[in-house]
Amino acid sequence: TDQRVFNFSAGPAAIPLSVLQEVQAEMVCLPGAGASVMELSHRGKIFVDIIQQAEADLRTLLSIPETHEVLFLQGGAALQFSMIPANLLKDSQKTAQYLVTGTWGKKAIGEARKEGEVEATFDGSATNFDRIPAEGDCKISDDAAYLYYCSNETIQGVQFPTPPAAPTSVPLICDASSDFLSRPIDIANHGIVYACAQKNAGPAGLTVVIIRKDLIDRGNENLPGYLLYKNHSAAESMWNTPPTFGVYVLGKIVKWLLNDIGGLDTMAKQNAEKAAMLYEVIDANPDFYKGHAQADCRSKMNVTFNLPSDELLAEFVKEAATHKIENLKGHRSVGGIRASIYNAMPVEGVKTLAKFMTEFAAKNS
Ligand code: PMP
Repeated sequence: TDQRVFNFSAGPAAIPLSVLQEVQAEMVCLPGAGASVMELSHRGKIFVDIIQQAEADLRTLLSIPETHEVLFLQGGAALQFSMIPANLLKDSQKTAQYLVTGTWGKKAIGEARKEGEVEATFDGSATNFDRIPAEGDCKISDDAAYLYYCSNETIQGVQFPTPPAAPTSVPLICDASSDFLSRPIDIANHGIVYACAQKNAGPAGLTVVIIRKDLIDRGNENLPGYLLYKNHSAAESMWNTPPTFGVYVLGKIVKWLLNDIGGLDTMAKQNAEKAAMLYEVIDANPDFYKGHAQADCRSKMNVTFNLPSDELLAEFVKEAATHKIENLKGHRSVGGIRASIYNAMPVEGVKTLAKFMTEFAAKNS
Protein backbone atom coordinates (compact mmCIF):
# COMPACT_ATOMS: atom_id res chain seq x y z
CA THR A 1 0.00 0.00 0.00
CA ASP A 2 3.03 2.34 0.36
CA GLN A 3 3.04 2.99 -3.35
CA ARG A 4 -0.58 4.14 -3.43
CA VAL A 5 -1.02 7.83 -4.27
CA PHE A 6 -3.80 10.31 -3.55
CA ASN A 7 -5.77 9.35 -6.63
CA PHE A 8 -7.95 12.22 -7.88
CA SER A 9 -9.07 10.28 -10.97
CA ALA A 10 -12.56 11.09 -12.31
CA GLY A 11 -13.33 7.46 -12.97
CA PRO A 12 -12.57 4.67 -12.77
CA ALA A 13 -11.72 6.15 -9.41
CA ALA A 14 -10.48 5.42 -5.90
CA ILE A 15 -12.04 2.50 -4.03
CA PRO A 16 -11.86 2.36 -0.21
CA LEU A 17 -8.60 0.67 0.76
CA SER A 18 -10.31 -1.63 3.26
CA VAL A 19 -12.59 -2.90 0.47
CA LEU A 20 -9.62 -3.55 -1.83
CA GLN A 21 -7.91 -5.44 0.98
CA GLU A 22 -11.00 -7.59 1.59
CA VAL A 23 -11.20 -8.32 -2.12
CA GLN A 24 -7.51 -9.18 -2.12
CA ALA A 25 -7.93 -11.57 0.80
CA GLU A 26 -10.74 -13.36 -1.03
CA MET A 27 -9.38 -13.10 -4.57
CA VAL A 28 -7.99 -16.59 -4.96
CA CYS A 29 -10.60 -18.34 -2.85
CA LEU A 30 -13.86 -16.91 -1.55
CA PRO A 31 -14.32 -18.48 1.89
CA GLY A 32 -16.50 -21.57 1.58
CA ALA A 33 -16.64 -21.38 -2.23
CA GLY A 34 -13.47 -23.24 -3.16
CA ALA A 35 -12.92 -20.72 -5.96
CA SER A 36 -12.68 -17.02 -6.70
CA VAL A 37 -15.96 -15.13 -7.02
CA MET A 38 -15.04 -14.63 -10.69
CA GLU A 39 -15.07 -18.39 -11.20
CA LEU A 40 -18.56 -19.05 -9.86
CA SER A 41 -21.78 -19.53 -11.79
CA HIS A 42 -24.06 -16.53 -11.54
CA ARG A 43 -26.92 -18.96 -10.93
CA GLY A 44 -25.24 -20.86 -8.10
CA LYS A 45 -26.36 -20.30 -4.51
CA ILE A 46 -23.17 -18.50 -3.47
CA PHE A 47 -23.45 -15.79 -6.10
CA VAL A 48 -27.23 -15.53 -5.81
CA ASP A 49 -26.74 -14.84 -2.09
CA ILE A 50 -24.14 -12.17 -2.95
CA ILE A 51 -26.39 -10.33 -5.43
CA GLN A 52 -29.42 -10.54 -3.16
CA GLN A 53 -27.46 -9.23 -0.19
CA ALA A 54 -26.00 -6.40 -2.30
CA GLU A 55 -29.51 -5.40 -3.31
CA ALA A 56 -30.87 -5.64 0.23
CA ASP A 57 -28.03 -3.50 1.60
CA LEU A 58 -28.39 -0.97 -1.22
CA ARG A 59 -32.11 -0.74 -0.44
CA THR A 60 -31.29 -0.01 3.20
CA LEU A 61 -28.56 2.51 2.36
CA LEU A 62 -30.66 4.49 -0.14
CA SER A 63 -34.06 3.83 1.51
CA ILE A 64 -35.33 2.40 -1.79
CA PRO A 65 -39.09 1.93 -1.52
CA GLU A 66 -40.97 -1.21 -2.62
CA THR A 67 -42.33 0.76 -5.57
CA HIS A 68 -38.88 0.56 -7.21
CA GLU A 69 -36.78 -2.30 -8.55
CA VAL A 70 -33.01 -2.53 -8.63
CA LEU A 71 -31.38 -3.85 -11.81
CA PHE A 72 -27.70 -4.72 -12.15
CA LEU A 73 -26.79 -4.21 -15.80
CA GLN A 74 -23.83 -3.80 -18.16
CA GLY A 75 -23.17 -1.35 -20.99
CA GLY A 76 -22.10 1.50 -18.74
CA ALA A 77 -24.11 4.61 -18.08
CA ALA A 78 -23.92 5.25 -21.81
CA LEU A 79 -26.25 2.36 -22.66
CA GLN A 80 -28.88 3.98 -20.44
CA PHE A 81 -28.71 7.04 -22.72
CA SER A 82 -30.42 4.73 -25.26
CA MET A 83 -32.32 2.28 -23.05
CA ILE A 84 -34.28 5.03 -21.31
CA PRO A 85 -35.72 6.57 -24.50
CA ALA A 86 -36.04 3.14 -26.18
CA ASN A 87 -38.33 2.00 -23.35
CA LEU A 88 -40.05 5.23 -22.33
CA LEU A 89 -40.09 7.50 -25.38
CA LYS A 90 -40.15 5.46 -28.59
CA ASP A 91 -43.74 5.10 -29.92
CA SER A 92 -45.10 7.16 -27.00
CA GLN A 93 -46.17 10.14 -29.18
CA LYS A 94 -44.73 12.30 -26.39
CA THR A 95 -41.70 14.54 -25.99
CA ALA A 96 -38.94 13.89 -23.49
CA GLN A 97 -37.56 16.99 -21.80
CA TYR A 98 -33.84 17.23 -20.99
CA LEU A 99 -31.97 19.63 -18.73
CA VAL A 100 -28.58 19.76 -20.39
CA THR A 101 -26.04 20.99 -17.86
CA GLY A 102 -22.89 19.42 -19.29
CA THR A 103 -21.23 16.91 -21.57
CA TRP A 104 -23.10 13.85 -20.27
CA GLY A 105 -26.53 15.42 -20.57
CA LYS A 106 -25.62 16.49 -24.09
CA LYS A 107 -24.60 12.97 -25.01
CA ALA A 108 -27.76 11.58 -23.45
CA ILE A 109 -30.09 13.85 -25.43
CA GLY A 110 -28.13 13.04 -28.59
CA GLU A 111 -28.84 9.33 -28.16
CA ALA A 112 -32.46 9.95 -27.17
CA ARG A 113 -33.04 11.94 -30.37
CA LYS A 114 -32.57 8.68 -32.30
CA GLU A 115 -35.53 7.16 -30.44
CA GLY A 116 -38.12 9.94 -30.45
CA GLU A 117 -39.02 13.59 -29.89
CA VAL A 118 -36.75 15.40 -27.45
CA GLU A 119 -36.48 18.95 -26.22
CA ALA A 120 -33.51 20.60 -24.51
CA THR A 121 -35.62 22.48 -21.99
CA PHE A 122 -32.41 23.90 -20.56
CA ASP A 123 -29.10 24.05 -22.42
CA GLY A 124 -26.13 25.44 -20.51
CA SER A 125 -23.78 25.41 -23.50
CA ALA A 126 -24.09 29.18 -24.03
CA THR A 127 -22.19 29.74 -20.75
CA ASN A 128 -19.86 26.80 -21.27
CA PHE A 129 -21.88 24.59 -18.89
CA ASP A 130 -21.13 26.49 -15.69
CA ARG A 131 -24.63 26.43 -14.18
CA ILE A 132 -27.92 24.67 -13.54
CA PRO A 133 -31.26 26.21 -14.53
CA ALA A 134 -32.56 28.90 -12.20
CA GLU A 135 -35.66 27.93 -10.27
CA GLY A 136 -38.80 28.47 -12.31
CA ASP A 137 -36.72 28.82 -15.49
CA CYS A 138 -37.91 25.63 -17.13
CA LYS A 139 -41.42 24.87 -18.21
CA ILE A 140 -42.10 21.16 -17.86
CA SER A 141 -45.21 19.93 -19.65
CA ASP A 142 -47.62 17.75 -17.67
CA ASP A 143 -47.59 15.47 -20.66
CA ALA A 144 -43.82 15.04 -21.14
CA ALA A 145 -42.59 11.44 -21.56
CA TYR A 146 -40.12 12.18 -18.79
CA LEU A 147 -37.83 14.89 -17.41
CA TYR A 148 -34.16 13.95 -17.60
CA TYR A 149 -31.22 15.50 -15.73
CA CYS A 150 -27.68 14.59 -14.73
CA SER A 151 -27.29 15.25 -11.01
CA ASN A 152 -23.53 15.79 -11.30
CA GLU A 153 -21.80 16.69 -14.53
CA THR A 154 -18.47 14.97 -14.03
CA ILE A 155 -16.52 16.94 -16.63
CA GLN A 156 -17.72 20.46 -15.81
CA GLY A 157 -18.11 19.91 -12.04
CA VAL A 158 -21.69 21.19 -12.00
CA GLN A 159 -24.07 19.54 -9.52
CA PHE A 160 -27.75 19.96 -8.72
CA PRO A 161 -27.91 20.65 -4.95
CA THR A 162 -31.46 19.24 -5.04
CA PRO A 163 -33.36 17.49 -7.85
CA PRO A 164 -35.31 19.66 -10.30
CA ALA A 165 -39.09 19.74 -9.90
CA ALA A 166 -41.27 17.74 -12.27
CA PRO A 167 -45.08 17.53 -12.39
CA THR A 168 -46.25 14.33 -10.66
CA SER A 169 -47.44 12.97 -14.02
CA VAL A 170 -43.89 13.16 -15.43
CA PRO A 171 -41.28 10.56 -14.43
CA LEU A 172 -38.09 12.25 -13.23
CA ILE A 173 -34.98 10.50 -14.56
CA CYS A 174 -31.54 11.02 -13.07
CA ASP A 175 -28.09 10.11 -14.34
CA ALA A 176 -26.43 9.92 -10.93
CA SER A 177 -23.26 8.27 -12.22
CA SER A 178 -20.81 10.56 -10.52
CA ASP A 179 -22.59 11.36 -7.27
CA PHE A 180 -24.31 8.03 -6.62
CA LEU A 181 -23.94 6.98 -2.97
CA SER A 182 -22.26 10.30 -2.12
CA ARG A 183 -25.40 11.71 -0.50
CA PRO A 184 -29.01 10.68 0.10
CA ILE A 185 -31.37 10.88 -2.89
CA ASP A 186 -35.15 10.70 -2.78
CA ILE A 187 -35.72 7.58 -4.88
CA ALA A 188 -39.51 7.71 -4.40
CA ASN A 189 -39.52 11.05 -6.22
CA HIS A 190 -37.79 9.58 -9.29
CA GLY A 191 -38.89 7.31 -12.11
CA ILE A 192 -35.32 6.12 -12.69
CA VAL A 193 -32.05 6.78 -10.92
CA TYR A 194 -29.10 5.13 -12.61
CA ALA A 195 -25.34 5.13 -12.27
CA CYS A 196 -22.30 3.43 -13.67
CA ALA A 197 -20.27 1.96 -10.83
CA GLN A 198 -16.78 3.23 -11.56
CA LYS A 199 -16.87 6.41 -9.48
CA ASN A 200 -18.38 5.63 -6.07
CA ALA A 201 -19.75 2.13 -6.40
CA GLY A 202 -17.14 -0.28 -7.70
CA PRO A 203 -15.27 -1.31 -10.83
CA ALA A 204 -16.29 -0.39 -14.39
CA GLY A 205 -18.65 -2.84 -16.05
CA LEU A 206 -21.60 -2.59 -13.67
CA THR A 207 -24.48 -0.15 -14.01
CA VAL A 208 -27.13 0.13 -11.30
CA VAL A 209 -30.62 1.06 -12.50
CA ILE A 210 -33.27 1.85 -9.90
CA ILE A 211 -36.58 1.99 -11.70
CA ARG A 212 -40.20 2.54 -10.67
CA LYS A 213 -42.16 -0.64 -11.32
CA ASP A 214 -44.82 0.89 -13.54
CA LEU A 215 -42.13 2.06 -16.00
CA ILE A 216 -40.61 -1.37 -16.49
CA ASP A 217 -43.17 -2.76 -18.92
CA ARG A 218 -43.35 0.17 -21.32
CA GLY A 219 -40.74 -1.05 -23.81
CA ASN A 220 -41.83 -2.63 -27.06
CA GLU A 221 -41.12 -6.39 -27.42
CA ASN A 222 -39.42 -5.71 -30.76
CA LEU A 223 -36.52 -3.92 -29.13
CA PRO A 224 -33.28 -5.89 -28.92
CA GLY A 225 -33.69 -8.12 -25.88
CA TYR A 226 -30.92 -6.59 -23.81
CA LEU A 227 -32.52 -3.16 -24.14
CA LEU A 228 -35.86 -4.18 -22.64
CA TYR A 229 -36.07 -3.39 -18.94
CA LYS A 230 -38.81 -5.97 -18.55
CA ASN A 231 -36.45 -8.80 -19.55
CA HIS A 232 -33.96 -7.84 -16.83
CA SER A 233 -36.71 -7.34 -14.31
CA ALA A 234 -38.40 -10.69 -15.00
CA ALA A 235 -35.06 -12.50 -14.72
CA GLU A 236 -33.93 -10.60 -11.60
CA SER A 237 -30.88 -9.17 -13.41
CA MET A 238 -29.98 -12.61 -14.80
CA TRP A 239 -31.44 -12.29 -18.31
CA ASN A 240 -27.84 -12.78 -19.29
CA THR A 241 -24.70 -13.10 -17.17
CA PRO A 242 -24.53 -10.06 -14.90
CA PRO A 243 -21.15 -8.46 -14.10
CA THR A 244 -20.60 -10.76 -11.14
CA PHE A 245 -17.32 -9.30 -9.90
CA GLY A 246 -18.72 -5.77 -10.02
CA VAL A 247 -21.80 -6.76 -8.03
CA TYR A 248 -19.58 -8.46 -5.45
CA VAL A 249 -17.41 -5.32 -5.02
CA LEU A 250 -20.48 -3.06 -4.94
CA GLY A 251 -21.83 -5.22 -2.11
CA LYS A 252 -18.66 -4.61 -0.12
CA ILE A 253 -18.70 -0.85 -0.80
CA VAL A 254 -22.33 -0.62 0.32
CA LYS A 255 -21.45 -2.48 3.53
CA TRP A 256 -18.53 -0.07 4.05
CA LEU A 257 -20.93 2.87 3.69
CA LEU A 258 -23.43 1.32 6.10
CA ASN A 259 -21.06 0.01 8.75
CA ASP A 260 -17.79 1.97 8.59
CA ILE A 261 -19.12 5.36 7.47
CA GLY A 262 -22.53 5.12 9.14
CA GLY A 263 -24.80 5.93 6.20
CA LEU A 264 -25.27 8.53 3.52
CA ASP A 265 -25.99 11.51 5.78
CA THR A 266 -22.55 11.12 7.31
CA MET A 267 -20.97 10.49 3.91
CA ALA A 268 -22.62 13.63 2.50
CA LYS A 269 -21.34 15.69 5.43
CA GLN A 270 -17.78 14.43 4.92
CA ASN A 271 -18.00 15.09 1.18
CA ALA A 272 -19.25 18.64 1.77
CA GLU A 273 -16.37 19.29 4.16
CA LYS A 274 -13.81 17.91 1.72
CA ALA A 275 -15.16 20.00 -1.17
CA ALA A 276 -15.28 23.16 0.98
CA MET A 277 -11.55 22.84 1.70
CA LEU A 278 -10.74 23.14 -2.03
CA TYR A 279 -13.31 25.81 -2.88
CA GLU A 280 -12.01 27.90 0.02
CA VAL A 281 -8.55 27.94 -1.54
CA ILE A 282 -10.01 28.83 -4.94
CA ASP A 283 -12.01 31.71 -3.42
CA ALA A 284 -9.05 32.92 -1.38
CA ASN A 285 -6.95 33.23 -4.57
CA PRO A 286 -9.39 34.70 -7.12
CA ASP A 287 -6.65 36.15 -9.30
CA PHE A 288 -4.90 32.82 -9.56
CA TYR A 289 -7.50 30.04 -9.52
CA LYS A 290 -10.63 30.37 -11.64
CA GLY A 291 -13.36 27.98 -10.56
CA HIS A 292 -15.47 26.74 -13.46
CA ALA A 293 -18.89 26.23 -11.86
CA GLN A 294 -21.13 28.98 -10.48
CA ALA A 295 -21.02 29.00 -6.68
CA ASP A 296 -24.57 27.65 -6.18
CA CYS A 297 -23.95 24.47 -8.16
CA ARG A 298 -20.35 23.63 -7.42
CA SER A 299 -19.84 19.90 -7.43
CA LYS A 300 -18.83 18.17 -4.22
CA MET A 301 -17.36 15.35 -6.31
CA ASN A 302 -15.43 17.03 -9.14
CA VAL A 303 -13.75 20.33 -8.33
CA THR A 304 -12.91 22.06 -11.61
CA PHE A 305 -10.72 25.13 -11.96
CA ASN A 306 -8.10 26.70 -14.15
CA LEU A 307 -4.77 28.45 -13.65
CA PRO A 308 -3.47 31.69 -15.22
CA SER A 309 -1.51 29.96 -18.01
CA ASP A 310 -0.85 26.61 -19.67
CA GLU A 311 2.71 26.72 -18.36
CA LEU A 312 1.52 27.11 -14.75
CA LEU A 313 -1.05 24.38 -15.31
CA ALA A 314 1.64 21.95 -16.47
CA GLU A 315 3.90 22.95 -13.59
CA PHE A 316 1.02 22.49 -11.11
CA VAL A 317 0.39 18.94 -12.28
CA LYS A 318 4.10 18.13 -12.24
CA GLU A 319 4.75 19.52 -8.77
CA ALA A 320 1.58 17.98 -7.34
CA ALA A 321 2.96 14.56 -8.22
CA THR A 322 5.85 15.11 -5.83
CA HIS A 323 3.22 15.22 -3.05
CA LYS A 324 1.63 11.98 -4.27
CA ILE A 325 -1.23 14.00 -5.77
CA GLU A 326 -2.11 12.30 -9.06
CA ASN A 327 -4.64 12.30 -11.93
CA LEU A 328 -5.59 15.95 -11.67
CA LYS A 329 -5.74 16.93 -15.31
CA GLY A 330 -9.14 18.14 -16.47
CA HIS A 331 -11.06 16.34 -19.20
CA ARG A 332 -9.48 16.90 -22.61
CA SER A 333 -12.61 18.75 -23.77
CA VAL A 334 -12.38 21.53 -21.17
CA GLY A 335 -8.77 21.53 -19.92
CA GLY A 336 -7.72 22.97 -16.57
CA ILE A 337 -7.69 20.93 -13.38
CA ARG A 338 -10.32 18.51 -12.16
CA ALA A 339 -9.87 17.15 -8.67
CA SER A 340 -12.30 14.27 -8.24
CA ILE A 341 -12.94 13.70 -4.57
CA TYR A 342 -15.36 10.80 -4.40
CA ASN A 343 -16.29 8.93 -1.22
CA ALA A 344 -13.06 6.96 -1.11
CA MET A 345 -10.76 10.01 -1.27
CA PRO A 346 -9.49 10.37 2.29
CA VAL A 347 -9.70 13.77 4.04
CA GLU A 348 -5.91 13.58 4.26
CA GLY A 349 -5.67 13.60 0.45
CA VAL A 350 -7.86 16.69 0.15
CA LYS A 351 -5.93 18.48 2.91
CA THR A 352 -2.69 17.71 1.09
CA LEU A 353 -4.08 19.12 -2.15
CA ALA A 354 -5.52 22.23 -0.45
CA LYS A 355 -2.19 22.97 1.20
CA PHE A 356 -0.34 22.42 -2.05
CA MET A 357 -2.75 24.75 -3.90
CA THR A 358 -2.24 27.53 -1.34
CA GLU A 359 1.54 27.21 -1.51
CA PHE A 360 1.58 26.99 -5.30
CA ALA A 361 -0.50 30.16 -5.66
CA ALA A 362 1.67 32.05 -3.20
CA LYS A 363 4.86 31.00 -4.98
CA ASN A 364 3.64 31.80 -8.47
CA SER A 365 1.43 34.89 -8.04
N1 PMP B 1 -22.76 9.92 -17.10
C1 PMP B 1 -21.88 10.50 -16.28
C2 PMP B 1 -22.34 11.59 -15.35
C3 PMP B 1 -20.54 10.10 -16.30
O1 PMP B 1 -19.65 10.69 -15.50
C4 PMP B 1 -20.15 9.07 -17.18
C5 PMP B 1 -18.74 8.55 -17.24
N2 PMP B 1 -17.73 9.34 -16.87
C6 PMP B 1 -21.10 8.51 -18.03
C7 PMP B 1 -22.40 8.96 -17.94
C8 PMP B 1 -20.75 7.43 -19.01
O2 PMP B 1 -20.46 6.27 -18.30
P1 PMP B 1 -19.91 4.96 -19.01
O3 PMP B 1 -18.54 5.29 -19.49
O4 PMP B 1 -19.94 3.94 -17.92
O5 PMP B 1 -20.83 4.63 -20.11
